[in-house]
Amino acid sequence: MTVVTRFAPSPSGHLHVGGARTALYCWAYARGRDGRFVLRIEDTDRKRSSDAASLGFMRDLAWLGIDWNEGPTIPELPDCGGGDHGPYFQSERLQIYQEHLDRLLASGRAYHAFDTPEELDAGRRAAREAKVAYRYDRAALKLSEEEVAAKLAAGEPAVIRFRTPDEPITIVDEVLGEATLPAGEIDDFVIRKADGYPTYHFAVVVDDALMKVSHVLRAQEHFNNTARHMVLQDALGFERPTYGHLSLIMNPDGSKMSKRDKDKALRAAVREREIEACPLDDTGEPMVDGDTWDRWRGDKTVQLDLDRLEAIADALDVALPEINVSDFRRSGYLPEVLCNFLSLNGWSAGDDLEKFDNAFLAERFDLDRVQKAPAKFDRDKLLAFNLDAIQAMTPEEFASRARAHAEAFHPEFLDRLDGDQFAMLCEASRERSKTLDEPFRTNRFLVDADEAIAWPVTKPVRKAMFKGEPAGLEMLGRVRPVLNEIEEFESSALESAITAFAEAEAEGNLGRIAQPLRIAVSGGPVSPPIFDTLAILGRESVLARIDRCLEVLAAEMPSS
Ligand code: GLU
Repeated sequence: MTVVTRFAPSPSGHLHVGGARTALYCWAYARGRDGRFVLRIEDTDRKRSSDAASLGFMRDLAWLGIDWNEGPTIPELPDCGGGDHGPYFQSERLQIYQEHLDRLLASGRAYHAFDTPEELDAGRRAAREAKVAYRYDRAALKLSEEEVAAKLAAGEPAVIRFRTPDEPITIVDEVLGEATLPAGEIDDFVIRKADGYPTYHFAVVVDDALMKVSHVLRAQEHFNNTARHMVLQDALGFERPTYGHLSLIMNPDGSKMSKRDKDKALRAAVREREIEACPLDDTGEPMVDGDTWDRWRGDKTVQLDLDRLEAIADALDVALPEINVSDFRRSGYLPEVLCNFLSLNGWSAGDDLEKFDNAFLAERFDLDRVQKAPAKFDRDKLLAFNLDAIQAMTPEEFASRARAHAEAFHPEFLDRLDGDQFAMLCEASRERSKTLDEPFRTNRFLVDADEAIAWPVTKPVRKAMFKGEPAGLEMLGRVRPVLNEIEEFESSALESAITAFAEAEAEGNLGRIAQPLRIAVSGGPVSPPIFDTLAILGRESVLARIDRCLEVLAAEMPSS
């Protein structure tokens, strides 16, 4: 038997790390057994699905190195997808679902139902009042064939329901074990909605069978759905795949990793910094209206729209916790590290093995070491893994991966720095960087306009610029001509010239000159090594920044 697994995302929003882990396990299970891994887009919820989201999911999977043997093909990923069991977007398979619905209708295993939402609500209310679980009352079954035909001919909205057999159902799961649902637990559920689209339950069963899926590995939240899928498989004469339901990935405090965490982080930063008003956008308008902003600030159950939340966080320079694969990518995590780390969230390789690649995972992955209990997502550990992987890189590899990251997220660095300057920035940052983003995030001053540099008089600035005899600011004025006159404005020439200057003017204490220079060009006390920093900026910017700094800070200098 060929092992066939599938990942079947509903394309709304972004690929969550939990979904990525499911995809990774499915991929590894098939890959390690010479099987096939299918990607199927479950876009039957027309209101929530979008092509942009589908594309985003596919790009995220590709970035993680999770390639699919069968599924949609997109221009960016010509090697992924295709296959004999398509189409792979459920919205393009309506004809196929209809054929199987017709089979069930013809055999009496499914029926049309015309209940109005009000009637269904009344039934639910009555069940609630009687404190019993709601079950559809099969009202539609009381209609005669002629009545049904007349209603359909008159175009009355109708759903199709499955006639669930009145028997206990046993779910067999390779991860969670067995569970038996008593007869009557599952009511006659809807399999085709009034809009003509199949429900998730129906489409998933038809597709898994037609795509020859042998193993369904998916999130634990679908465990109870499996009973519905099993009765449908029986009625349609399909073989049952093997099931394995995967536990959730949680925050260390046991809460769900969700968008809410981002709201929480931003709200905490806004409160801590006592920010009253919502930041303004480019047009000078608040990023969200005053009412929403106030409600959001004061009420932890209120959430902001994701795009706005991220724009505000960006404006305030607040780092939000990563939840989706795209967040981790933007934050500069390496895809192979994220995969390695995710694979450990819910599975163990045995022998205390922690660091491995996807090929190893494919070789080793099996369901018997998949954990039942929820995994706790340890961000510090992920960051440590990322740091280790970066430190193991050659300078060339780091520079080339940092370049790819900059192309996607910080193109201004590539506009501003030439190849040598870019390589210098990477080399100067490599050892300290935990992520590919750090060289850029922590060195924004390199690409800011010279006129945008400001010098808030913080403690280290006061110390470096105003203290000492002569004061740092004066040193800065004195070193300026050296920089103006130096022939080659590059790292080693700058080092010799400034070191010689320090010998002559500061008893060899280089820090007395380096720190004022650093502050002058960056606005603060932290930068890559100073000679590299100066060389990256170039003479013109360095002199312009020194001149403005001298002017601005002279006005702030205490007179005594
Ligand atoms: N489309 C479903 C989801 O995104 C997946 C269902 C399944 O794997 O069976 O949750």
